[in-house]
Amino acid sequence: MMNIPINSLDDGKVVPLHSFLLSEKQMEGKGLMPMDAEQLREQGHKMVDFIADYYKTIETFPVLSQVQPGYLRKLLPDSAPNYPDSLQHVLNDVQEKILPGVTHWQSPNYFAYFPSNSSVAGFLGEMLSAGLNIVGFSWITSPAATELETIVLDWLAKALQLPGDFYSTGQGGGVIQGTASEAVLVVLLAARDKILRKVGRSALPKLVTYASDQTHSALQKACQIAGLNPELCRLLNTDSSTNYALSPDVLSEAISNDMASGLIPFFLCATVGTTSSTAVDPLSALGKIAKTNELWFHVDAAYAGSACVCPEFHHYIDGVEEADSFNMNAHKWFLTNFDCSLLWVKDRSALIQSLSTNPEFLKNKASQENTVIDYKDWQIPLGRRFRSLKLWMVLRLYGLEGLRSYIRNHIEMAAYFEELVGQDARFKVIAPRTFSLVCFRLLPPLNSADHGNKLNRDLLDLVNSTGNVFITHTVLSGEYILRFAVGAPLTERRHVNMTWQILQDKATALLESL
Ligand SMILES: *Cc1c(COP(=O)(O)O)cnc(C)c1O
Repeated sequence: MMNIPINSLDDGKVVPLHSFLLSEKQMEGKGLMPMDAEQLREQGHKMVDFIADYYKTIETFPVLSQVQPGYLRKLLPDSAPNYPDSLQHVLNDVQEKILPGVTHWQSPNYFAYFPSNSSVAGFLGEMLSAGLNIVGFSWITSPAATELETIVLDWLAKALQLPGDFYSTGQGGGVIQGTASEAVLVVLLAARDKILRKVGRSALPKLVTYASDQTHSALQKACQIAGLNPELCRLLNTDSSTNYALSPDVLSEAISNDMASGLIPFFLCATVGTTSSTAVDPLSALGKIAKTNELWFHVDAAYAGSACVCPEFHHYIDGVEEADSFNMNAHKWFLTNFDCSLLWVKDRSALIQSLSTNPEFLKNKASQENTVIDYKDWQIPLGRRFRSLKLWMVLRLYGLEGLRSYIRNHIEMAAYFEELVGQDARFKVIAPRTFSLVCFRLLPPLNSADHGNKLNRDLLDLVNSTGNVFITHTVLSGEYILRFAVGAPLTERRHVNMTWQILQDKATALLESL
């Protein structure tokens, strides 16, 4: 740790000496110059160097941060500095105090949750967006921000072979949300208001949503925010017989029962690539049921949607023609830095009817004449970042073919890991691998009291506490399962091999200790 000299001021507050000197110098000059182009050039280069060095040395950090809760308060002062400090001192603090508390999602040895990709293109796009720093809530606030977003979302709709109804040239279109959680919330609100316009607002407590018990908890949160009856957010049972996909029969029966009791089914959320085990709900069959019963049909492909730009994986979204809305996170597995969640709807007017406002201070000719998209009416907040820049840069600098080979490489590495697990009789692959996630567990010794749940929890802790890799877990059919999700941009086969070696070694140690 650097030893910084400190100086006592009259008010009893203690500030670092260098800050005091800097401030005096600054006071003599013109005061704060917070956006000086030459300073940006100099310090921007320094920051890029710092980040490039980070990536060069990323494998030297523990992947999962090993700090204890509250660690940072002990390292930072009680109040904000009164006077300016130097970038170098701040970077020193980043190195010494912040990085130990960072979990390195971009590490090649990161196999936890789902990936959250960064890339040079995504980074540059973020940088440009930060540089322009516009707030593009309506077309006039930066026409390029709105128009680029519309175009890039149409491009991707085409790459995913979404049906024409999802293009902006018809009644639908795409929009960039922050996260999949916001995406499902806005479509749920649109669907809610659409049905309430038909049956009357007093029917709110009777509205029913359907999804499988594998559906992301974001849906439940959206139901809470939408003021829906929490007991009518039906999470229908799945099991290993369908590989945890939602059964159309189970859905049909639930809808019939609810209608028989006078309730109003209105929303179905299917998932392509569930969070636990990448289960794929059968979109065609579910979509037909949704259509027959006039439900809004939302497809959450937050993680797996990226794979569907490859022709050989596109069939996982067969049936998306039936959907009213479709979502994929470009920030997960599509080399676009967080956050960038892509949402398409077939009927944009449904979104706009739920989310538009038109205060005097935002009125302008283009909006009044209805010749433009005002994305503020497609989302919760007013303000919005120029997120399409980074997605556009990713598409331009890598091309769809580059992205396809990127995805394929990860899927091959996951298949390779699955093979390794299959070769060790002490382990078992649980649920078939579909994309780049392998669910597996260490088999418990005979007569194990907890059926191996503690064993696998202990194994996970042992493996993650090495700091060399980071993997996470889930529970399927009551069993504690380990998840190995390939998807970090720097991951190579040698990282997969190393992780498997650590898992095997820790398993040996654990089994011997029993
Ligand atoms: C990651 C994920 C989500 C949540 O994503 P956010 O963008 O963080 O809200 C929702 N659904 C699925 C299937 C996911 O994989």
